Amino acid sequence: MLRVENIKHAFKTGNEWTTVLHDISFEVKEGEMVALLGSSGSGKSTLLNLMAGLMKPTEGHIYIADHDIVQMGENKLAEFRRKHIGFIFQAYELITSLTVRENVELPLVFQSVSPSVRKEKALALLEQVGIPDKADLFPSQLSGGQQQRVSIARSLITEPSVIFADEPTGNLDSKTEEEIIAILLRLNQTMKTTFIVVTHEHEVAEQMQRTFSLRDGYLIHDLNSEPDTVPAPGGAG
Ligand code: ADP
Ligand code: MG
Repeated sequence: MLRVENIKHAFKTGNEWTTVLHDISFEVKEGEMVALLGSSGSGKSTLLNLMAGLMKPTEGHIYIADHDIVQMGENKLAEFRRKHIGFIFQAYELITSLTVRENVELPLVFQSVSPSVRKEKALALLEQVGIPDKADLFPSQLSGGQQQRVSIARSLITEPSVIFADEPTGNLDSKTEEEIIAILLRLNQTMKTTFIVVTHEHEVAEQMQRTFSLRDGYLIHDLNSEPDTVPAPGGAG
């Protein structure tokens, strides 16, 4: 479903190149929900943005449903992303001038889906995320947790192959965080959507099927299912 092969990424600042991801490889199967765990600056967002096709890596390949998104041209990639990839941001990124329902429908507007079909799908998803009564309100009239529910509904409306979430509970208190993670876990179960969830919190990662950890741009595999995995470079083990 998702295959990351020998990804390396470097950023240029001034005349200096800094490598922030070192030879990252892993696979995620269809329907899996995996955590990408690591402290601030470890490279989580960079890796997520690469997998979502928002940037191109310095080296390596990324396959989603057998398509190499690194090799894809700009137009094809844009279309591929609209069809196959969902994204949930830490800061929700809703459009303030649109209602909740219009925000959820938006990805389908770009696919020329008819208004009545869009509306029906959006209302069904708002039901799924537990805020069917908020459809006609504007984002500013919602709490942070409610806004993130809208953003989750929006990410699902195209029935993407995979949803990437970058610290989806990073702006929320711990009770709301639990609610949002519970929604994601339930959606993964019921809709069989593949999720990659970035977090810096062990308690969040532990609830996923598998965890990949990043440390200073190096990947440490599968902490949940392989407790005796390779120690970090320089670590005491
Ligand atoms: P995380 O999401 O784990 O906090 P990031 O992927 O955002 O980490 O950042 C990883 C490293 O890459 C950090 O050292 C950060 O400063 C650097 N970095 C991220 N984005 C850029 C950029 N656009 N230009 C230069 N350096 C960047
Ligand atoms: Mg980040």
